[in-house]
Amino acid sequence: MISSVLPTYSRAPLSFVKGEGSWLIEADGRRFLDMGAGIAVNALGHANPELVATLTEQAGKLWHVSNLYKIPEQQALADLLVDKTFADTVFFTNSGTETAELAIKMARKYHYEKGAPRATILTFEGAFHGRSTAAIAAAGSEKMVKGFGPLMPGFKQLPWGDMAAFNAAMDDSICAVMVEPVQGEGGIRPMPEADLKAIREACDRTGALLILDEVQCGVGRTGKLFAHEWAGVTPDIMMVAKGIGGGFPLGAVLATENAASGMVAGTHGSTYGGNPLACAVGLKVMQIVSDPAFLAEVNRKAGLLRQKLEGLVAAHPDSFESVRGSGLMLGLKCKAPNTELTAAARDAGVLVVPAADNVLRLLPALNIPDADIAEAVTRLDAAATAHEAV
Ligand SMILES: *Cc1c(COP(=O)(O)O)cnc(C)c1O
Repeated sequence: MISSVLPTYSRAPLSFVKGEGSWLIEADGRRFLDMGAGIAVNALGHANPELVATLTEQAGKLWHVSNLYKIPEQQALADLLVDKTFADTVFFTNSGTETAELAIKMARKYHYEKGAPRATILTFEGAFHGRSTAAIAAAGSEKMVKGFGPLMPGFKQLPWGDMAAFNAAMDDSICAVMVEPVQGEGGIRPMPEADLKAIREACDRTGALLILDEVQCGVGRTGKLFAHEWAGVTPDIMMVAKGIGGGFPLGAVLATENAASGMVAGTHGSTYGGNPLACAVGLKVMQIVSDPAFLAEVNRKAGLLRQKLEGLVAAHPDSFESVRGSGLMLGLKCKAPNTELTAAARDAGVLVVPAADNVLRLLPALNIPDADIAEAVTRLDAAATAHEAV
């Protein structure tokens, strides 16, 4: 008989009942070091006291009002995001997938309103933009789209890292280019800064809009507030979710005034998007993460974790091949199957997340204590040793 929860996930046999910083406590009392952080969601750790205080204070005042009214918490978070980024305007959602939907609509509407409609959006193999019909059409991988057709037309996938293919596809019929500065699900693959710059220039030349999907790599994850800052380019539209809510469902589409010019009253909406509870928490997260001193700490911790992971790879050449990624968005390219190593890590009391290309992802809380970084790598070392012994 089918399980009462639709079985679209293959789940580990663990049920967590409590979280404390970078630790998760299982129903049976075992403590696990959480190097996945809900897949880059719990950016400030579990049960962060400042976020708990913000959430409970807002919960006692007002949870939800309709977007038919002004929402001060939403306004404050939008103002902060505009102040800290390239953007002039922000729309709030409840998830990353919804940001993909709006980004696509916004880009097409922009060209329509300029009097020369364009549909085609270029994306890259290995991309992940969510699970809606549009988002799977954007990513285009067999695994995600099979059986769900007919797919939304107007997406063209290009080989990852092949700038010749990109240049050949790019002309003034292209609506937008949609790309993750660091692919997450695709296996922690950073796009080279030079390629991101070249894409920006090609967009400027052809009038296409640049949509950056920073749902996983944004909000301090790479050591800059947003990953594109490393390359010194700015997008026209940016998708943000995961870390921005610190664990509370929240997403945001950030845009320039020009890119957003087609999105007038009545063209888009969301019942829950931008509700007071989510935005109060999101504002606190962004206030903490956007502090330059906090980001400096992320970079220092990232250096520490990376150095220890390089040592792990050197000590276990049969299990691991290399370390890649940026900031606290790191991937261990594996030699042994990443699913087996994930299970071995779990047995050793450390949680990591598999990704495509046989990679293990490490996406810890951005404020993970140094001692927990050391303990996590000690446990990964034990996991590799145990896996090699079987
Ligand atoms: C997780 C993710 C999404 C989808 O976000 P959901 O909140 O699961 O809808 C989109 N893009 C990227 C890069 C992601 O990592």
